[in-house]
Amino acid sequence: MRILVTGGAGFIGSNFVHYILEETTDEVVTLDALTYAGSTENLESVMDNPRHKFVEGDIRNESLVSTLIEDVDAVVNFAAESHVDRSIDSSEAFVASNVVGTQTLLDAALSTDIERFVQISTDEVYGQILDGTFEEGDRLGPRNPYAATKASADLLASSYHTTYGLPVSITRSSNNYGPRQHREKLIPKFIARAMTGQTLPVYGDGSNVREWTYVRDNCRAIDLVLREGGSGEIYNVGSGVERSNLEVTKNIVDLTGASEDLIEFVEDRAGHDQRYALATDKIESLGWEAEWDFEEGLRRTVEDIQNRVEETSGA
Ligand code: NAD
Repeated sequence: MRILVTGGAGFIGSNFVHYILEETTDEVVTLDALTYAGSTENLESVMDNPRHKFVEGDIRNESLVSTLIEDVDAVVNFAAESHVDRSIDSSEAFVASNVVGTQTLLDAALSTDIERFVQISTDEVYGQILDGTFEEGDRLGPRNPYAATKASADLLASSYHTTYGLPVSITRSSNNYGPRQHREKLIPKFIARAMTGQTLPVYGDGSNVREWTYVRDNCRAIDLVLREGGSGEIYNVGSGVERSNLEVTKNIVDLTGASEDLIEFVEDRAGHDQRYALATDKIESLGWEAEWDFEEGLRRTVEDIQNRVEETSGA
């Protein structure tokens, strides 16, 4: 199979490109606009791989995406603006990449006979849940601009299946963590700050709960949906590992040997969702389950950041 991976120079996308090249014999074309969040460093070891081609470009470039999609069997769309805090400052780029970008890809896919279009989504489209878990059929209730644009993209993608029969599948995963994540996100940011003795600014009282899925587990789930997921179907992907932001921060303090005194409580994020949690029976019925232990995954993430710091400092 030949797969177009958009946003493949970002965090989850680059882990997915590595996963496919390591675990299958498939070919990958990576399309990425290399925004502030994307870097070819994430793909350094596969840039010369004969089964991989990197194209710098925007998913809103109609002629480029049409040409690329004609030549592949499947599309996996990771490309997005992904940081909630930035979407609160301004949502324009989020609407452009997450909504218009997805629409451009879907339109280009319509005039081909691709086997699968996997839209990568998030648990945030459901909104917050204080008890229990969200199922795939639950109503969407996004509460921040990022989540609203991701929900819009999901609805568009689903409508292309219903209206035109496009073989769309959607994965909605919980928070990912692991190697190659951008330093603006909670876990890599706090690891890097703890390692250098900087304060760890925790929003509010730190009680907001997230479900943490190791990125490699998510990549395996996405690959499964790509091959065996149903057309028009949505799959939640979550590990069941729930941790409050304060607990995660304390885990990071322990692993890096930093002092708890670095923890500082700061003004809460506007509209900060209290808790997300997913029911994952549907993806489990395809044969997937999360394998990574949280503490082990976190240790691996700390090592990755340590290695990158040493590489840049020439140590
Ligand atoms: P990221 O910000 O690390 O990477 C996004 C990538 O997309 C970057 O390489 C960027 O250059 C590229 N990109 C952005 N706009 C583009 C455009 N218009 N054209 C081409 N490329 C563009 O994000 P991530 O954390 O890897 O997330 C990937 C996907 O997974 C996103 O769709 C996100 O909504 C979803 N998701 C992320 C998480 C998480 O915890 N990180 C959880 C659930 C879902």
